[in-house]
Amino acid sequence: MKTDFGWNFDNSYSRLPRRFFTQQKPIPVKAPKLVILNEKLAADLGVDIAKLHTEEGIAIFAGNQIPEGAFPLAQAYAGHQFGHFTMLGDGRAVLLGEQLTPNDGRLDIQLKGSGKTPYSRGGDGRAALGPMLREYIISEAMYALGIPTTRSLAVVTTGETTFRETPLPGAILTRVAASHLRVGTFQYITAFGSHEELKILADYTINRHYPQAAMAENPYLSLLQEVIKYQAGLIAKWQLVGFIHGVMNTDNMAISGETIDYGPCAFMDTYEPATVFSSIDIEGRYAYGNQPYIGGWNLARFAETLLPLLDDDEGEAVKLAEAAISEYGKLYQSYWLAGMRAKLGIFSEEEQDEALVVDLLNLMQKYSADYTNTFLGLTVDKPYGLKLFATEEFSQWKRRWHERLGRQEQSEDTIQELMRNSNPAVIPRNHRVEEALDAAVNQEDTSVMKKLLAVLSKPFAHLPEQAEYCTLPPKSDRPYRTFCGT
Ligand code: AMP
Ligand code: MG
Repeated sequence: MKTDFGWNFDNSYSRLPRRFFTQQKPIPVKAPKLVILNEKLAADLGVDIAKLHTEEGIAIFAGNQIPEGAFPLAQAYAGHQFGHFTMLGDGRAVLLGEQLTPNDGRLDIQLKGSGKTPYSRGGDGRAALGPMLREYIISEAMYALGIPTTRSLAVVTTGETTFRETPLPGAILTRVAASHLRVGTFQYITAFGSHEELKILADYTINRHYPQAAMAENPYLSLLQEVIKYQAGLIAKWQLVGFIHGVMNTDNMAISGETIDYGPCAFMDTYEPATVFSSIDIEGRYAYGNQPYIGGWNLARFAETLLPLLDDDEGEAVKLAEAAISEYGKLYQSYWLAGMRAKLGIFSEEEQDEALVVDLLNLMQKYSADYTNTFLGLTVDKPYGLKLFATEEFSQWKRRWHERLGRQEQSEDTIQELMRNSNPAVIPRNHRVEEALDAAVNQEDTSVMKKLLAVLSKPFAHLPEQAEYCTLPPKSDRPYRTFCGT
């Protein structure tokens, strides 16, 4: 039932068997203050923006008040973290419920940093302001880039100190997601639940995300195929913009196909497949160039959980799963190549297109070219100070590329338009994100972040005022580092 706040909860997840979650209220905080509210998203959710700004609205974002119709709970899940299986669960998050939106959507509303839960495993259940604002900025940038992602509705400070290596201001992020079902949710039920519970989870997922699978001859195989397709599409999109997730554990892979869990993620600047930003990813498991492979590895773990549902005969089930998984690489490659063609303004398909792309990437690597600015430079025909553009090898490549463009019927203007819509002028560059966080956290000044968010909200507009956001940071002798579980 819709409240005068506009909350309109219907909590289907809370109606699942008790094994799936623990009823858990957020732990109240001392003195909440609103740092940022996503008014556009609030409007899409059908929630009253003016009311969200009131003391009562802020109390909800802080977990001090439970909105009418909510059913706060912590979800249970497991996951492979850096390849090792572990029991996890929401250790610092509470799902308030599912908001039914004015355009017939159903979206999870989750508080992240809302205090201890039975799954906290020694953690404090809290989050610091910097990392929550970082998730806000990057998830909203991803949304604007057209990449499926969880969204960020609000960040509040708690008025309490969160202790990490140093004392930091505590904060809570309100996250909005198609759902928080993960590969790890299936792993958890497979490991600790019954066959009946696994079937309930799979049916629930089909109903919520892939209703067409219910009509298939084998609905569970169809579910697996759909998830594979969506993940292949998602990871191709990450690669195309140079996004590095940083912690692709199976608990951080959403069944809906959305990007989830913005911890140590960052955008690559210089094109280098081995790029890793996360301080704990010592072996480069989640390096940029490894992401497509890890996606397949995670999906194989997902397929394993579904085996008991795929066929009564185990051998037959394994065969079906293997056939589905073997499609992943092909799907990924076709999405990636289609995206690369668009980035180069190519409409038709020729056998040699892939070589054209790979040769460019190799040159970018050889001359340490900035990934985003190389494609931007090709789009607007400006060199952006890139050494690469002054080389003879690049001139030769460019001739090949122009010949290729000449073999299709589209006009120059049409090609330009495709390239402008496929190559972002701005991405959340690490130094810009840090600058915004520093002002917000250390000077309580959110204006730098708000300006950055405005610029990032139109990455394909190619506006003159975005130019200053395309520049690279001053050279530093220390590589950029990101951190997990902050
Ligand atoms: P993540 O790396 O954010 O995917 O988190 C992995 C697991 O650690 C999840 O189960 C989180 O809920 C949990 N976790 C991360 N930080 C904390 C914290 N400060 N307190 C309790 N649990 C946490
Ligand atoms: Mg996680």
